[in-house]
Amino acid sequence: MSAPSDSLSNQISHIDRFLTTSRFANLPPTFFTHLRPTPLTNPYLVAVSQSQAQALTIPPSQYDQRDVVEFFTGNRLPNETAPLASVYSGHQFGVWAGQLGDGRAILLGDTLTKDQQHLEVQLKGAGPTPYSRSGDGRAVLRSSIREFLCSEAMHALGIPSSRALCITGSDQYVFREEPETTAVVTRLAPSFIRFGSFEHWYYNRRHDELRVLADFVIDHYYPECREHPNPYRSFLTTVTHKTAELMALWQSVGFMHGVMNTDNMSILGLTLDYGPFGFMEAFDEGHICNHTDQQGRYSYKMQPSIGNWNMHALGQALLPLIGSVEDTQAALSVYAGSFTDKWSTLMRAKLGFTTRQETDKQLSDDFFTLLQENHADFTLSFRKLSALDNAISAKDADLLDLFIDREGLKAWLERYRTRLQLESSDEVQRQTSMLATNPKYILRNYLAQNAIEKAKNKDFSEITKLLSLLERPFDEQPENEVYAALPPDWAKGLEVSCSS
Ligand code: AMP
Ligand code: MG
Repeated sequence: MSAPSDSLSNQISHIDRFLTTSRFANLPPTFFTHLRPTPLTNPYLVAVSQSQAQALTIPPSQYDQRDVVEFFTGNRLPNETAPLASVYSGHQFGVWAGQLGDGRAILLGDTLTKDQQHLEVQLKGAGPTPYSRSGDGRAVLRSSIREFLCSEAMHALGIPSSRALCITGSDQYVFREEPETTAVVTRLAPSFIRFGSFEHWYYNRRHDELRVLADFVIDHYYPECREHPNPYRSFLTTVTHKTAELMALWQSVGFMHGVMNTDNMSILGLTLDYGPFGFMEAFDEGHICNHTDQQGRYSYKMQPSIGNWNMHALGQALLPLIGSVEDTQAALSVYAGSFTDKWSTLMRAKLGFTTRQETDKQLSDDFFTLLQENHADFTLSFRKLSALDNAISAKDADLLDLFIDREGLKAWLERYRTRLQLESSDEVQRQTSMLATNPKYILRNYLAQNAIEKAKNKDFSEITKLLSLLERPFDEQPENEVYAALPPDWAKGLEVSCSS
């Protein structure tokens, strides 16, 4: 852990130069509270994302050095750092929840990537803030590992997400269902502003701040909206489009967020705030990955319509800036088309179609019906479909074995193969492109659970192992075949606690 003295000054200067004042901190003081993280005792490195670290200015090899660990735990920050927690509000499970905020995430500042991109650096679990309500401001190691792995896995799947740089841990305990040790995740995104950040000012009838926030987001992230006669309408249209596309991307890999409250919806269309998320295994469109969500509001099949509901919550909040219900409605109306276009593009890629045929939607819907009736594993079904030959071959058995209704699947495959004849690409091209679209490795709950169990005994090797696996989700990785297998029996009843 300790740094050799000759590299110490070098290392400190890396830390000193890592942060710049966050652009967010230029907003008026009503948007946040300046405060410093609460230190954790004897922190240690749990994991680091080498690929993310490589894009930044602290060399990846230095993350296990004491000063770096202390820095990313929030224990020792350069003097000029001005950390802050931001305020926001939100609708939780469809009900207005009033003021929330960064109850346990502290924004240290921005960092500039090697290619000069601004990323906000947040420490999640860095101690209480004025917005913690009754919470302790901490995050447990278990949920931190899940957030870390899933952020990086989503990025590798090509799905917009906040990133995770590293986890540091401490033996300090907090109480959830049982005592658990705490951790801090360093997460990065161009902005962590949420729909709820806008709702906050709207419901407090503070339209001046609402405008300041919208102008800030437009200027920094959506400057093209300024060219529109009504920039706020254009902004809402763009966010609607991005959100609809994000929902299609989630659906296409079977990702379920679990808590799609408006305070967890990124204004940049990123996947944000990983809690009790899950990836679909045995397909069931009604699957609920958050066991406190008894109504299934955030089940797999509901995500696209909840994305639209959340957009309407944002639309309501932006109404005073846009000026008319008609203009607001016009902006929101792009949702359905954006979702359908993206979904059909993704599905055609997943099925290996490069041309557009009238029957494609029916064929795709019918495959989903088969997945549902057979509760076939979502990821493996598409993966094994990708490897099929254009004519019936021995490989068919790999796919058929996932289905109980083999005759039903055979009948569908016959139609599918007839459809493939309309493609100009050859068999190998199709297989290659499908295998680059349908992942082999996803973050199955039981895989995360195995890494968590080992980590409880201070063995962090499985986190690193999973990270390297999930960074290449489309590659065959024969040495890791076991990680692509169906979940073991013990994992079937695995419930992910929503406490974090
Ligand atoms: P979530 O649904 O996990 O995104 O959390 C909803 C809100 O509760 C956010 O504003 C969090 O900052 C806050 N929160 C969650 N857990 C804690 C905690 N242990 N301490 C303080 N605030 C928390
Ligand atoms: Mg949240």
